Amino acid sequence: MATPTGPTLPTNYHTHSRYCDGQGEIEDYVRAAIAQGMTSLGISSHAPVPFANGYALRPEKLDAYVAEVRRLQAAHAGQIAIALGTEVDVIPGIETYFAGTILTKGFDYFIGSVHFVGTDPHTGDPWEFDAGPDHFAAGLNDWYEGDFRRLAEDFYAIARTVPHFIPGIAIVGHMDRIKRFNYDNQYFSEDAPWYRELVEGALSAYAEAGTIVELNTAGWRTRTGAPFPSPWITSRCHELGIRMTINTDAHQPTPLQAGHPQAIAQLRAAGYREVWVLRQGAWVAEALPE
Ligand SMILES: [Zn+2]
Ligand SMILES: [Zn+2]
Repeated sequence: MATPTGPTLPTNYHTHSRYCDGQGEIEDYVRAAIAQGMTSLGISSHAPVPFANGYALRPEKLDAYVAEVRRLQAAHAGQIAIALGTEVDVIPGIETYFAGTILTKGFDYFIGSVHFVGTDPHTGDPWEFDAGPDHFAAGLNDWYEGDFRRLAEDFYAIARTVPHFIPGIAIVGHMDRIKRFNYDNQYFSEDAPWYRELVEGALSAYAEAGTIVELNTAGWRTRTGAPFPSPWITSRCHELGIRMTINTDAHQPTPLQAGHPQAIAQLRAAGYREVWVLRQGAWVAEALPE
């Protein structure tokens, strides 16, 4: 592939829709992306999981989801490159479930994300720390006696396994998600040496595996007001030679470039002059816009 000369036009590989916990048809996202001048769009509904939940694609909808993305891919081939993805929950022990479901469907890429840590003793299912601030606070108190550090240790022990969880994980989703409800540093400071060490352990795993880390702009739209990952982690990613891409984690068809200017600024401040995008089935570096 020729070396790009101009700036990379916007891409986004992290989008949801009514097939999981987002709004709108997949086609609405495709049309919006074309209207916004995007060159490539990844569709990444939450992969089905083997326990009761209200956010993931239902197993019986998996084939329809795959067929719909493939249909749109073909229908808009001349206008935009559509990629078939899914956001996979990295939960120790459920790999075999994925082996019998998504791994047989020929996906173009997977995003590996951690939304669960440990087990909720009330249900026996994985505990979704990500389900909301009160749910988070209650679990932290009930299963961790309020000790955020122990929870963070459990989170990063899983987070560092993302690259090899199942074959085909191209992107680590919102890698420091555990900070999501840390408004006003209510639970911890990211300056704590023990926290930096946990992050460092995960980054080494990503650097070694060559996994792309997304700069997920969704955090800017939350009360914490910080992207995933934080700027200091982005700088460490650059120092470690980790590839990065910009995703918005869109749950609505528009805008599909929310936070892009800030994301570009954060990547540039960290030293990046390129961003990784999916072109004809391969992740390649293209120039990061100014
Ligand atoms: Zn997620
Ligand atoms: Zn997502």
